[in-house]
Amino acid sequence: MKNATRSFSGSLRFLSLLILTGLIICQAQAKRYSSSDKPLPRIAICGLGIESSTFSPALTEEAAFHAKYNADVLKTYPFLSADSIVYKEATWIPTVVGHALPGGTVTREAYESLVNKTLDALQKGGPYDGLYFDIHGAMSVVGLDDAEGDFIVRIRKVVGTKTLISTSMDLHGNVSWRLAENTDLITCYRMAPHEDAMATKKRAVENLIERLDDRKGRPAYKAYISIPVLLPGEKTSTRIEPAKSVYAAVAPAAAQKGIIDAAIWIGYAWADEPRNHAVVMVTGDDKEKVTSTAEKLARNFWAARKGYAFVAPTGDLKTCLDKAIASDKHPFYISDSGDNPTAGGAGDVTWTLTEILKRPEFKTENGPSLIYASIPGAELVKSAIAAGVGNHVDGYAGAKVDARLAPPVHISGTVKSIVYGDTDAEVEVVVQVGSVSVIVTQKRKPYHKEIDFTRLGLNPRKADIVVVKIGYLEPELYAMRADWLLALTPGGVDQNIEQLPYHRIQRPMFPMDKDMADPDLTAKLVPFVK
Ligand SMILES: [Zn+2]
Repeated sequence: MKNATRSFSGSLRFLSLLILTGLIICQAQAKRYSSSDKPLPRIAICGLGIESSTFSPALTEEAAFHAKYNADVLKTYPFLSADSIVYKEATWIPTVVGHALPGGTVTREAYESLVNKTLDALQKGGPYDGLYFDIHGAMSVVGLDDAEGDFIVRIRKVVGTKTLISTSMDLHGNVSWRLAENTDLITCYRMAPHEDAMATKKRAVENLIERLDDRKGRPAYKAYISIPVLLPGEKTSTRIEPAKSVYAAVAPAAAQKGIIDAAIWIGYAWADEPRNHAVVMVTGDDKEKVTSTAEKLARNFWAARKGYAFVAPTGDLKTCLDKAIASDKHPFYISDSGDNPTAGGAGDVTWTLTEILKRPEFKTENGPSLIYASIPGAELVKSAIAAGVGNHVDGYAGAKVDARLAPPVHISGTVKSIVYGDTDAEVEVVVQVGSVSVIVTQKRKPYHKEIDFTRLGLNPRKADIVVVKIGYLEPELYAMRADWLLALTPGGVDQNIEQLPYHRIQRPMFPMDKDMADPDLTAKLVPFVK
């Protein structure tokens, strides 16, 4: 009994101790709750994305950016839908975001207009704890170097130096020292084709929220290494070596303790500016890890430089067509790479289609079936609509923007289909000329997906040959190809970049200066703007 009493009073004491501990924990939790109940961080969103070739006569106007404003901006990012976890972690102040298809140099008026709209909106919505800067990084603007560097400096003037800026980019973008200085966090895609585009944007936003949440703020270190290599994107698909291994090392590098993110930029080959070359950047709090990781990634990239090769066997157009016609593998894909609109080509170069239509093999409907995607021709589209499906149309298309290589192409054939409503093309028409189905668009449009063809009544799987203005095949086309050649056709994004008339890129540069000495690949620590 005594024992029982003792044990009872012991239990009581234990119970009261438990209650007391519970109370203390509750209080502590309440305290923690109230401290985490601080206002959510205020994060602005802005950015402009385009890659624009200075070797193409095309100019890009403001409308091409399809700019979104205010709340509409959030629709760009599925991870910021109202019910998403990320969305609930901050108060969002979306301002202006615009993404254009690659094209020619952006007019100064378009750039100033979009930048000023962004700055006005940022001015009204401030102050900000953070800013997500969503850019591509290869915007060329008439009469202006390093457009994204200029843009971020002007943003800093509005938001100040205390706002944490997180930048996400395409790996074909360029990172100038000025851009590196003015951003706190920075990253880019790790896959080409860019299947991880949205995941990269999400990572940039999550990194920003994390640094704001735990009050760590700016990373202590940003390492920057400039690599004197400039390659066409078509030589650096991460599907094949050496880019596959070079890029596979990025995610594990970024996952190390003391590192926030790591990134390798290939840069953009079709603009003639000093900032155009490969770059490695690593951000984090552990100085030794940040610098040594950046140096390792840069050394790997440099060591592999001679191994970067075109993703598919290449040839001139004649060779590619000869092989495709003779082949028993169908569909046989041919990339019309020199005018790839998603690399910055005008998209209306007629040279390739003119050569195809000249070939005797395609002159009759019994010839090998070939789909050509695509050529813009607003007037021909108009004539096709007037003629109607099933009827004959005769007219010219293309070479409105880039007529340096061939004049408008003569197209005379039967209208097979007319489809309205595509965001880029607006109206698409299929005209059958002999055994060639030519897709003529009102405005230029890239053809990357199976549905881009099937919605026009075409079946690319059943075609003998499919010729697309494209570089490496996008995933769906790649998956259905029986064979594939990359035709080194002429145009604004000629893949033979060693022949491009560069005057202003840094030299020496690989592969223009093939036997150059090994460069200094030690990491430079980028200062933060004060
Ligand atoms: Zn890219």
